[in-house]
Amino acid sequence: MGYNLSMFNYDVIVVGAGHAGCEAAVSAARLGQKVLLTTLNIENIALMPCNPAIGGPAKSCLVREVDALGGVMGVVTDATYIQMKMLNRSKGPAVRALRAQSDKKEYMRFMRHLIESEPNISLKQCMITELLVQDEKAVGVVDELGLEYRANAVILTTGTSLNGRIWIGLQSIEAGRLGEAPAVGLSESLSKHGLTVKKLKTGTPARVDSRTIDYSKMLIQPGDKELNFFSFLPNRPIREQVPCYLTRTNEKTHEVIRKNLDKSPMYTGLIHGKGPRYCPSIEDKIVRFAQNPSHHIFIEPEGKDTYEVYVQGFSTSLPAMAQIEMLHTLEGLENVHVIKPAYAVEYDYVPALQLSHTLMTKKIKGLFCAGQINGTSGYEEAAAQGLIAGINASLYNDKKEMITLSRKSSYIGTLIDDLVTKDIDEPYRMLTSRSEYRLILRQDNADMRLSDIGHKVGLISDLRYQMFKTKKAAIEKEIERLRNTKVSPNEEVLKVLSKYNEGLDAGKKLAELIKRPALNYEILKELDKETKELDLSREIYEQVEIELKYDGYLRRQQEQIDIADKLEKIKIPEDIDYRAIAQISTETKDKLEKVRPQTLAQAARIGGVKPADISVLMVILETRRVPRSKSVI
Ligand SMILES: Cc1cc2nc3c(=O)[nH]c(=O)nc-3n(C[C@H](O)[C@H](O)[C@H](O)COP(=O)(O)OP(=O)(O)OC[C@H]3O[C@@H](n4cnc5c(N)ncnc54)[C@H](O)[C@@H]3O)c2cc1C
Repeated sequence: MGYNLSMFNYDVIVVGAGHAGCEAAVSAARLGQKVLLTTLNIENIALMPCNPAIGGPAKSCLVREVDALGGVMGVVTDATYIQMKMLNRSKGPAVRALRAQSDKKEYMRFMRHLIESEPNISLKQCMITELLVQDEKAVGVVDELGLEYRANAVILTTGTSLNGRIWIGLQSIEAGRLGEAPAVGLSESLSKHGLTVKKLKTGTPARVDSRTIDYSKMLIQPGDKELNFFSFLPNRPIREQVPCYLTRTNEKTHEVIRKNLDKSPMYTGLIHGKGPRYCPSIEDKIVRFAQNPSHHIFIEPEGKDTYEVYVQGFSTSLPAMAQIEMLHTLEGLENVHVIKPAYAVEYDYVPALQLSHTLMTKKIKGLFCAGQINGTSGYEEAAAQGLIAGINASLYNDKKEMITLSRKSSYIGTLIDDLVTKDIDEPYRMLTSRSEYRLILRQDNADMRLSDIGHKVGLISDLRYQMFKTKKAAIEKEIERLRNTKVSPNEEVLKVLSKYNEGLDAGKKLAELIKRPALNYEILKELDKETKELDLSREIYEQVEIELKYDGYLRRQQEQIDIADKLEKIKIPEDIDYRAIAQISTETKDKLEKVRPQTLAQAARIGGVKPADISVLMVILETRRVPRSKSVI
C-alpha cells in the first residue's frame, strides 16, 4: 500500500519558530492556510536569545503596529511581563516608548500554547536543508532526513542559525545560538538557486546568578505604577512586577577590556561579519567612546522562577576568564557567579535588496524571507516582518493582491522600505530617527493607522474592529466638542488656572487652552463641568490631548507627507533600462539596477542617488520616453 503523501503537503511552510516564524505561522493559519512550522529545537519556540525585554524606543511602535494588524507579539508580552515601564514619559508622545521585561520561559510557553491551539498549524522539529524550486517558484523544502514537504509558499525565518558560528575569545564552535546546533545546507541551497548570501554578526552578554549580586550597591529601577500595555485589546492582566537594577562600568573595567583586546575575535579580524552599530559590545564602546569614563549596565531578571539575570549593556566576545574579571570590577558584581558566558555569533543572511516590499524574493516567486535572515536585529523587527510575510504568503496563495505598507503608515512600512531599498551591511535595528514621519507614527495611535488594514486582511475580527471604530468616533467627537467649547475668564476659571501659573484675558476655546504646555486634559476637567462629567477613558482622552496639543506640528508633517506622496505616486515601469539613460552616472545606474525601485520616491531614497538623477528620471517618465529592457528581474 502506498504512503499517504498528502501529509507532506501544506499551503505555507515556515522555516523557523523564532519571533518572525511564530507571527508568520499564526497569521497564515488564521487566514485559512494549512501551515507547517519547522524549528531546530521545539523547546525553544519564541526564545529570546538576548535581552529578556520587548519594546523600547521605536520598537514599542512596531509591537503596537503588529497588534493593530492582528499579530500576537503584544498579546503574549502583556500576558507574560514581569515589569512594564513607559520610557521618556516626560518627553513628547513621539518618543514615548513602552518597554516590558518578559518572563522568558513564560513567554515561550505562552507562544507555544498559542501555536498549538491553532488547528491549521503543524509543528515539527527538524532541520530544513534544502529549498525546492520549480520554474522559478518555491514548491517546498527538504529536511536533514531527506523528507520532502510541499507548499506553494515558503517563508524563511532562520534567525542567526544559518551556518552560525559562536565566538568566545579566540575559541569558536559551530552553533546558531549557545546550546543550539547551526542550520547547515540551506544557505548553500539558496545560493544554488541564485540568491546572494552574506555574513553578519551579533552578540549577547553573560547571564549571572542573582544570589551572588549585592543589589544594595545599585540603583533600583522599579516598574510603573500606572500600567500601559502593548495590545489594544481590553482587559490586560495586572501582574506582580519585579525591579531591575543599575550599575556602571569604571576605569578598572575599561582597563581589563583594553588589556584583553588582542584576544577579541572582532579586533583580531577572526569575525568578518559586521556587528550592530546601535547595540555595540562593551569593548566597542570602550574603544569608540574612549572619552566616556563609565557606561550604564542594567541588571535584568530573566524570569520569576529563576535566579538567572541578564547583564544589559555588557555584550562581549572576549575570552571567558576576561569576562569574569570584567564583571567583578562592577559595583555589586564583585563576587558574581557567571551562569552562561557572553558570546558573539556570526551567521548567514540574505540581503533584502533581493526582496520586494511584500517580502517575497524577486527571483523566486512564493519564497518569502522575514526577520534576522533579512539583516535585521531584534525581536520586534522580526515579528513585524514575520506578520507581513505570513499575510502575504496567504494572499499569494489565494491569488489576491499582496499588501505593502507605506513609510507614512507605519514603522513596519519604514523598516521594510529601508531593507529593500538601502544596501544594508550591518544588523538593522529600528530607531525613531529612521522615520521622517515620527510625529505621526506614534505608539499611541498605531490602531488608528492600521486597524483598517488588519480588518480588511482578515486578522482583526468584526467585533474588535467595531470596538476600534467606537473608540475612533469618541475621539473625533471629543476633539470637535473641545474646538467648540469656550471658557470665559470668570473667577472660578481664573482660580483653577492660577494653580498652574496660567491666566486668561478673554474667552478661549478649550482646544486652544490645552495647547499651553502647563495644561492638559485632566486640568480641563477642573475648568469645564461637561469634560468632567464625560469621564472619558485614558486611552481616548490621551489621543484627544495629543491631537490638539500638537495640532500645528502634525499638520506640518501631513504637508510633508503630501509632498512626498507626489513622488510616491510616480511609478517606474518594471522593465526600465537604466543602462540606456545617458544623463546618469554609471555608479547611479548600478545602484538603480540593484534595487530596481518601484516608484520615484523609492529611487530618491537609495543611498548615493542624487536629486539631479531624480530630476532626469522624472523628465523621462513624464515625457514617456522610457528606455525598455528585454529582461526584467
Ligand atoms: C547571540 C545573540 C545576540 C543577539 N543580540 C541582540 C541584540 O543585542 N539586540 C537585538 O535587538 N537583538 C539581538 N539578537 C537578535 C534577536 O535574537 C533576533 O533578532 C530575533 O530573535 C530574530 O528573530 P527571528 O525570528 O528572525 O530569528 P530567531 O528568533 O533566531 O529564530 C530562528 C528560528 O529558526 C529556526 N531555524 C533556523 N534554521 C532552521 C532550519 N534550517 N530548519 C528549521 N528551523 C530553523 C531556529 O530553530 C529558530 O526557531 C541576538 C541574537 C543572538 C542569537
